Amino acid sequence: MQKIKIAIVGLGKIARDQHVPVITASDAFELVGVASPHNTLDGVRSYDSLDALLAAERDVVAVALCTTPQVRYDLARESLERGLHVLLEKPPGATLSEVHALVDLAKRKGVALFASWHSRHAAAVEQARAWVSERKLKSVAVTWKEDVRVWHPGQMWIWKAGGLGVFDPGINALSILTRVVPALVLKDAELSFPSNCETPIAARLLLTNPAGVEARVDFDFLQTGLQTWDIVVETDQGRLTLSMGGTVLKINDTLVPTEGPSEYTSLYQHFATLVHDRRIDVDLAPFQLVADAFLCGRHVSVAPFSY
Ligand code: NAP
Repeated sequence: MQKIKIAIVGLGKIARDQHVPVITASDAFELVGVASPHNTLDGVRSYDSLDALLAAERDVVAVALCTTPQVRYDLARESLERGLHVLLEKPPGATLSEVHALVDLAKRKGVALFASWHSRHAAAVEQARAWVSERKLKSVAVTWKEDVRVWHPGQMWIWKAGGLGVFDPGINALSILTRVVPALVLKDAELSFPSNCETPIAARLLLTNPAGVEARVDFDFLQTGLQTWDIVVETDQGRLTLSMGGTVLKINDTLVPTEGPSEYTSLYQHFATLVHDRRIDVDLAPFQLVADAFLCGRHVSVAPFSY
């Protein structure tokens, strides 16, 4: 089968860490170019903008938009208008209205649109979903605490409106949570904003499902030492613990073996099927909860932040 000719837009950390190596190793995709204002990739034709890339690379049929979220919408619109299939890194945009508009456009153009949630492709997530779906929930606790200075060094866009702050990693937790525990709504939220930033550095959320089961969510960007990316689900038949961002699964403290491709390998395998079928896969549940937290959450001002 002919490979899908794809370009990467936004050659930053995640593009270099995951998208480039996974596309390069893929049987389904061929990386034909990259577009990034200040970066080039050795051995791959590089351009300083999407416009320049599309003017030169006439056989590109798909793009992976790996930019900061604030610029994703215009790039996605332009790509869809030109009839390209589009993979959106998470979060899929800066606002919900942007993403709804992209879905409408992709439908009109008959092309694939994938709002990707890489953490949902972590090894243990589907097993966790299956286990939880057969049991009665009692409570859920999400603890996602990491050191922003280690994982996002110098990334000032995170602290600007639309950059999500602690919800940038937190939305990964919510992408797993909404896959494992359906129909959650936001009941309460408290967001801590550094006095010099436009986005929060910590957040606590209370979510509930229609049966009244509570999910307590704790996000923190100032965790030094041990980093925590855990989801614990208590049920009538024991406790499930997903740790290390969905890669490690324990049932009642017993490790359950997991297998499968890496997150981004699985993500691109799925994108290949979407492109083949010209389908749209946009699940806004994680983004909706974040938007709700910004809508309804109490704001607390905390100490200024600097790298
Ligand atoms: P990053 O290192 O700051 O990279 C973002 C890149 O976007 C920059 O390299 C910049 O290119 C590029 N860019 C900005 N405006 C552009 C435009 N108009 N056209 C083309 N490129 C443009 O950020 P990142 O950590 O890779 O994160 C990017 C996205 O991936 C975020 O939404 C994040 O949530 C998501 N993500 C990140 C990680 C992670 O571990 N970092 C993991 C999963 C998902 P220049 O430098 O060339 O100006």
